[in-house]
Amino acid sequence: MDASVGVIGVGTMGSMLMWQLAKAGVSAIGFEQFGIGHDRSAAGGESRIFRTAYFEGPEYVPLLQESYKLWRELEEDTKSNLLTINGGLMIGEESLLGNVMKSVKDFQLEHEVLSADTVMHRYPQHRLSPSEIAVLDKKAGFIRPEVAVVAAVEAAKENGAEIFPYTRVESIHNSGAGVIVRANGRDFKFEKVFVTAGPWTKRFLPQLNDQFSVKRIVMTWYPAKDISLYTVERFPIFARLGKEHDYFGIPVLDGSMVKISRVGYYNEAADPDRLNRDVAPEELEIINSFVKESMPGILPNPTRLGVYMDGYMEDEHAIIGQAPHLDNVYIMGGYSGHGFKMAPVMGKVGLDILIKGKTELPIQHLKLSRHLTAASLE
Ligand SMILES: Cc1cc2nc3c(=O)[nH]c(=O)nc-3n(C[C@H](O)[C@H](O)[C@H](O)COP(=O)(O)OP(=O)(O)OC[C@H]3O[C@@H](n4cnc5c(N)ncnc54)[C@H](O)[C@@H]3O)c2cc1C
Repeated sequence: MDASVGVIGVGTMGSMLMWQLAKAGVSAIGFEQFGIGHDRSAAGGESRIFRTAYFEGPEYVPLLQESYKLWRELEEDTKSNLLTINGGLMIGEESLLGNVMKSVKDFQLEHEVLSADTVMHRYPQHRLSPSEIAVLDKKAGFIRPEVAVVAAVEAAKENGAEIFPYTRVESIHNSGAGVIVRANGRDFKFEKVFVTAGPWTKRFLPQLNDQFSVKRIVMTWYPAKDISLYTVERFPIFARLGKEHDYFGIPVLDGSMVKISRVGYYNEAADPDRLNRDVAPEELEIINSFVKESMPGILPNPTRLGVYMDGYMEDEHAIIGQAPHLDNVYIMGGYSGHGFKMAPVMGKVGLDILIKGKTELPIQHLKLSRHLTAASLE
């Protein structure tokens, strides 16, 4: 055996899994087709939102609470600054905030419910309609994605893990008692393998068919009339649900621009090897008019654009489980535009599955078996 575990794809989830494995003393080799901390896939673009009052469903809250602790642990292990908590405004019509309200109630999350007038008085950066409200999630903020991946990999290496950057895995197959991974023309043998290939997930799990697709996501950064209103101290992160589109914002991090973007994808399924990184002016119309109408202190033309991608499941909940066609091969992916904040806890879930064959963490809603009946995972 080359190591106990092989990890295919050392991006967001793969880096956190490598950290967890190495910390637990499990020998592991990670393969990454690009450099560590690259921005060619789902983890680029300077910042990712962390929030606990969760639009996507209260079932995520325990995972997010555990993830919070692990972010702090990773910061401690690596003496780095990865997660900033500066609060988060979840804005929308009350009828759209059902899961946010259920999350704060069910788990007694620290929060405030604010009327439109109170929001605009306290945070003049926003313009709300009278029927909108906001829930201020006190445990929300943002993560620095590229350095988070680098930190997890460094922590893994510190604990004995081996990483092969710029090494693309070509195939995985069972042979005798092991799993053979072919990369850069060489065969590696492992007891178990975990695939964390993000947008490339379907290459290793073709059975997913139309349930999995790759979506292109455009990030936009804008200049402000008075940038001092958009600092970490004065401008909590926000997520805003609209009737047709959703938006989010993150404070100024480089001293010059505020990230305000549309949530989700730009309707184009992309081949992950041929992501279109050009942005047509008409693609910006929706986000620019949102900025014009609802963010009075921002100049409504972006000065920075970035195009990234994520693997999406049809129901927008990720998948974790055993690959149905390969013994001792597990897979996670399809984080559908909201996985970064959960990455450390997903690394822990991966470790549990590899070591114990199951996890105590509440991942029922993420099991691969909901899509592929042949897939098994206790
Ligand atoms: C623009 C954008 C904004 C987002 N905003 C947020 C946010 O604010 N908050 C939040 O929580 N989430 C957010 N998300 C979602 C989150 O970033 C993703 O869900 C998460 O990063 C997915 O992680 P992953 O490990 O599945 O994929 P990735 O991070 O892409 O990792 C997969 C890795 O596998 C490698 N790989 C693939 N195939 C091979 C192979 N054959 N050999 C070797 N290596 C391989 C890839 O190169 C890549 O590094 C956002 C996503 C995007 C794109």
